[in-house]
Amino acid sequence: MALIVQKYGGSSVASPERIKKVAERICRARKSGHQVVVVVSAMGDNTDDLLSLAAQVSRNPPEREMDMLLATGEQVSAALLAMAAQAMGVRAVSMTGAQVGIVTDRAHRNARIQDVSAQRIKQALAKGCVVIVTGFQGITPDHEITTLGRGGSDLTAVALSSALKAKICEIYTDVEGIYTADPRVVPNARKLPSISYDEMLELASLGAQVMQARSMEMAKKYNVPLHVRSSFSRRTGTIISKEVKAMEQVVVSGVSLQKDEAKVTICDVPDRPGLAATIFTGISDANINVDMIVQNVGRTGLTDLSFTVPRADLKKVLRVARRVAAKVKAGRVIHDEDIAKISVVGLGMRSHSGIAAKMFQALAKESINIVMISTSEIKISCIIRKNQAAKAIKTIHDAFGLGKQR
Ligand code: ASP
Ligand code: MG
Repeated sequence: MALIVQKYGGSSVASPERIKKVAERICRARKSGHQVVVVVSAMGDNTDDLLSLAAQVSRNPPEREMDMLLATGEQVSAALLAMAAQAMGVRAVSMTGAQVGIVTDRAHRNARIQDVSAQRIKQALAKGCVVIVTGFQGITPDHEITTLGRGGSDLTAVALSSALKAKICEIYTDVEGIYTADPRVVPNARKLPSISYDEMLELASLGAQVMQARSMEMAKKYNVPLHVRSSFSRRTGTIISKEVKAMEQVVVSGVSLQKDEAKVTICDVPDRPGLAATIFTGISDANINVDMIVQNVGRTGLTDLSFTVPRADLKKVLRVARRVAAKVKAGRVIHDEDIAKISVVGLGMRSHSGIAAKMFQALAKESINIVMISTSEIKISCIIRKNQAAKAIKTIHDAFGLGKQR
C-alpha cells in the first residue's frame, strides 16, 4: 500500500460542487488501497478576499493578525472536504498546520518550515483515515500561527511528502500540467511529459505560476517526485523530478512571460568602487528583491545602473533609490512600468550554443526592441516593451519549435 499526497489548489475547491468532485477523487484513491494525505488551498479567491477585508479596516495591518486571518481560508476548505468525504463513506479527518506539527520560524506572511513532525498524521493513517491538512500555514515554537507565502500550499504538500516519504506528491490544478508556454497566450503550446526541478524552479520564479518557487527548492533538496495534473480530468500531467539524461537532449523546455516587474534606472552614477554596494545595500535593507541588474561600461567616469523589481514595490524602491542616488552624488532616477520579461529555459543550454542568438533573431524579425538582457546557466531573459509581449512569446516559442505542429 503506497502513501500518496494530493494537493488541491484554490480553483479545484472553489465551490461545494467542486469540493464534492475532489472528495470523489480522494475516495477513489483510498479505495484503490492507497494511504492518502490531502493538502488544500483556500476556496477560489478566498485569500485575496481576506486580504482586501484587512485593507478595508487598516492601512497597515499587523503581520501577526494577517496570519490569523489568512490561515482561516484553508480551514474552511479542509473541513468542508473532510465532511464531503465522510458523506461518501470514507473516513476522513481535517487538521491544521499546527495540529500536524508544521513548525516554522517567526517570519509572519513568509515563514520558513523548520520541522515537520507529522505524528498525528501517521496515527490517523494507521487507523485507516484520510488526513486533510490545511495548506499554507504552520505554527511557531511559541504557538503563533504563521503563513508560508502566497501559493504556500504547494510547500505544505512538498514538506509533508518528504516527511512521510510519500511515493508521489500529486499537485491538482486547473491546467493539465506544465506547458512549453502559457496556453492562454500561446495557443499551440504543448504539455511537457516531464521537466527537471531546476527548469521548473526557473519557470516558477519566472511567473509560470503553476508551482510556488519555494516549494520547488524544497522538492529538489529532498528529491520529492511531483505530478502536476488537472483536477478536472483523469489525464496524466507533467512529472517533475531530478534531471535524467533524456532531459538534456531537449535544448529549450519552455518560454515564460512575466509582467509584474518595473525597471528603475539611476543615471550618471560615478564609476567608483563601492557604489553598487552602497546602492544595493540600501535597497536590500528595505527588504526588496532585485531581479535583473545591468550596469554599462562607464566611458566618461559616469555610468547608468538599471535594475528590475516587483512592480508592487516600485514606490518604496524609488524612495530608497532617490535617497541613495543623492548620497553617492548620482543623477536622476527614472523608472518604467511598461515592461515585460520574456525568458527561455532549458537544461540543454549548458551544452548547446547559439540559443541566445536564436532568441534575439526571433525578436529582431518582429522588430521587437530588447531593453535589458540577463542569462544564467539554463535561462536567458530579455526585457521588452509590455505591449509587444504576446507577439514576442509566440515568435520565440515558434523559433525553438516548441509548438504542437512541427
Ligand atoms: N491560499 C493561499 C494563496 O492563495 C495559499 C495557496 O493557495 O497555495 O496564496
Ligand atoms: Mg498555486
